[in-house]
Amino acid sequence: MSDASVNSREFFPGPVLLLGAPGVGKGTQAKLLVDEFRIPQVSTGDLLREHRKNHTPLGMMADELMSKGQLVPDELVNEMVAARLTEPDTKHGYILDGFPRTLNQAEWLDGELATSALPVIAISIAVPERELLERITGRMTCPVCGTIYNVYSEPPAKAGHCDREGAALTRRPDDTEPVFRERMKAFEAKTAAVIEYYRKHGGRFAEVNGNLSVDEVTQSIRGTLLRLRQHGEAERQEK
Ligand SMILES: [Zn+2]
Repeated sequence: MSDASVNSREFFPGPVLLLGAPGVGKGTQAKLLVDEFRIPQVSTGDLLREHRKNHTPLGMMADELMSKGQLVPDELVNEMVAARLTEPDTKHGYILDGFPRTLNQAEWLDGELATSALPVIAISIAVPERELLERITGRMTCPVCGTIYNVYSEPPAKAGHCDREGAALTRRPDDTEPVFRERMKAFEAKTAAVIEYYRKHGGRFAEVNGNLSVDEVTQSIRGTLLRLRQHGEAERQEK
């Protein structure tokens, strides 16, 4: 294959895991990548709901455990993911949502993908904690028209009131600093091992600056994906 054909070839992102603390805009970015590359989002939350709704054997097993107040084990979730990844729409890639959550799941997924597809690339959207705190604790919503304001970055003309019809703005009860700190702690504890795994195994982890416009973040994710995929391809050819 000549260089020209490599360059002109359409770029397939392969499996992508987006990571980000609460409020970084992970959902927005995932949706933009899904639209741009025409790849699906594979969400373990959605898979679990679908399996239960359709009463598949896996769904019924999950139902039984959940009715006893037990957690759905990794193995069961893994099987749902494995089944999903055999579907043709995942061929050029997909955005992983809520998975892998643990080191075991990351290792399992690498095993699953070893022979067939491109390996997973993990991209973390990083936003300074101070900024995230303001995004969340500054959020105010109009109960009448649904407009969302932020007292720090997008304040209404008259404090506490909607610009459109003047209704008193409301705050969600859990948009507080203590709740935010709790969530950050949980997020860091949960993702640390997964990040470490992708960092160590073949340089498949990168961080992008999430403190930019939505468009700029998307561009940065796209550029990072391209760079890491090219790097991975070069490494595989050397072996
Ligand atoms: Zn309003």
